[in-house]
Amino acid sequence: MAKAAQATPAKPGRSGSPTGRARGALLRWYRRARRDLPWRHTNDPYRVWISEAMLQQTRVETVIPYYHRFLDRFPDVAALAGAELDDVLGAWQGLGYYSRARNLKRAAEHVVECCGGELPDTADALRELPGVGRYTAGAVASIAFDRPEPIVDGNVARVLSRLHGLTEDPKSRAGQKRLWEEAERLVRGRSPGDLNQALMELGATVCTPRSPECPRCPVRADCVALRGGDPEALPAGGKRPKVRDITAVAALVERRGRVLAVRRPETGLLGGLWDLPGGDLTASEDPDAGLERTLRERVGLEVGAVEPIGAVRHVFTHRRLSLHVYRCRADAGRVRLDGFDSHRWVTDKALAALPAGNLTRKALALAEAKAS
Ligand code: SF4
Repeated sequence: MAKAAQATPAKPGRSGSPTGRARGALLRWYRRARRDLPWRHTNDPYRVWISEAMLQQTRVETVIPYYHRFLDRFPDVAALAGAELDDVLGAWQGLGYYSRARNLKRAAEHVVECCGGELPDTADALRELPGVGRYTAGAVASIAFDRPEPIVDGNVARVLSRLHGLTEDPKSRAGQKRLWEEAERLVRGRSPGDLNQALMELGATVCTPRSPECPRCPVRADCVALRGGDPEALPAGGKRPKVRDITAVAALVERRGRVLAVRRPETGLLGGLWDLPGGDLTASEDPDAGLERTLRERVGLEVGAVEPIGAVRHVFTHRRLSLHVYRCRADAGRVRLDGFDSHRWVTDKALAALPAGNLTRKALALAEAKAS
């Protein structure tokens, strides 16, 4: 797609105004103090997009090796669009929040079919792509296309809340509105991509949730929270969602030397990933009885020779899950799926190679350790 005419940036805040001072200080600081990260060596829109998708809810150190591997495997939009979903999920395996990988693939297909293989160069057009919200659209438009588009993520929300003394909860509608307005005011002017990255970098390295390093902050002269004496009190906290304790069962179900693998539907948590059959226990249900029930209900099999292997634990955002793992034999029944969208009978080796979530990988590692 030909690059559209650049939006005319609004005039930057005057250098003497608080906004103008903060802009100048952030840009100077960013150019001096930014970390050397691989996606900062490019303004290629595809690479910026992939890095932004990976960085959502994920630490920089975790993302770096995934970023390199993913781009080696899918070097451009066309390669990603033409890849098998299993391969994309395999490259994403361990990063979590798998809807990001599924959306990247769907969006790449859309870009190839409808945009001539080139990512759109405005935030509005980017937001038409599956999985691209206001934050990602703003990040790609500003970093790759130099558009004065704002971004607000957790780091930026914290910096702006403290800098301007915003007392609204950032998760509330009013808080979001105020934050986007402040981000929009700040991004207008030269180097919007660097300005946005400076805000994110400041939140990640200096204006941290606990013990912000205010003495080395480039905007300390204008920071309302610092003047108030308790920067950590902002942003205003919303109620933390309660974490539920869940107990579940899963099994390596064997038949004629192969093991049953089931695939989750593409929508929803861990969508499109492979799993061991099983399910959540009801309150006070015994795990052994629960295993027989869940296998009957969810894959239509009666099992025997049930051997407990052990339990693994995993914490999801709102669920603390304890999974009891078994090995057993499929004695009767044909596979009938409920809550999964396909299945395969595979060797142990092939099972280990299928894309799967961290909890399933822990269960497989436990089973392998028990067998050796
Ligand atoms: Fe954050 Fe302190 Fe800088 Fe204010 S002065 S923006 S609280 S690091």
